Amino acid sequence: MFDKFYDALTAAKHAVCFTGAGVSTLSGIKDFRSPDGVYSKPWQGYRVEDILSLSFFERDPSIFYSWARDFCYCLDRFEPNIVHKTLAELQKRGILKSLITQNIDLLHTRAGSPDVIEVHGSPARHHCLKCRKVTTYDEIAPIVMRGEVPKCECGGIIKPDISFYEEQLVPDDLNRAFDEAQRADLFIVLGSSLTVQPAASLPIAALQRGARICIVNAQPTMLDQFCEWKFNDLKDVFEKLSLKLNEKA
Ligand code: ZN
Repeated sequence: MFDKFYDALTAAKHAVCFTGAGVSTLSGIKDFRSPDGVYSKPWQGYRVEDILSLSFFERDPSIFYSWARDFCYCLDRFEPNIVHKTLAELQKRGILKSLITQNIDLLHTRAGSPDVIEVHGSPARHHCLKCRKVTTYDEIAPIVMRGEVPKCECGGIIKPDISFYEEQLVPDDLNRAFDEAQRADLFIVLGSSLTVQPAASLPIAALQRGARICIVNAQPTMLDQFCEWKFNDLKDVFEKLSLKLNEKA
């Protein structure tokens, strides 16, 4: 079954890949939405849904920033894994035309992916809610890790460009993601159970345009019955993929 998938991948004219939290759990990053994930239990008496909602953040950003020390601002503790690295290689060789992720851990970029469509935004950029001045992750992370709350020189609140509750997803990236899904002749879902939007809609958009679908996820997904290939073990699939690519190199 793997060989057939590999042949389809290398023959595809417009292969598109979507990655979810499962890709990053291989790097040791906890799945935000898993039963033992960070969303399931309150943090210092606050619900994580509240910490990550815009109105709550605007009232007092210090709670988000002290929570996020352990989740969003210590990303240098984690390394890209074989999935991130192999996807970057597939992009560089032109086999994979487009990479879409809902992860906000920057690991695709660190693995060398030349272009990543980030539908839940990215902490690589921050901006001031008052004067819109842009700052980078590298400028903000040390401040947060010191236990301080970053503040703009104008006095405004600085917010990471990740999508919070009560906030629209980044429209440019979302539009690009749907364009790519609709152009795809092969759409690959990695490490996502397709339970949150827009994750679920992207492969459906591809399927409606006649794309072949491959899903690699440990748990069942609602699209399993429509996909041509379903694998459970991400690491196993990517070890094989990486071997095949190195043979060809
Ligand atoms: Zn400002």
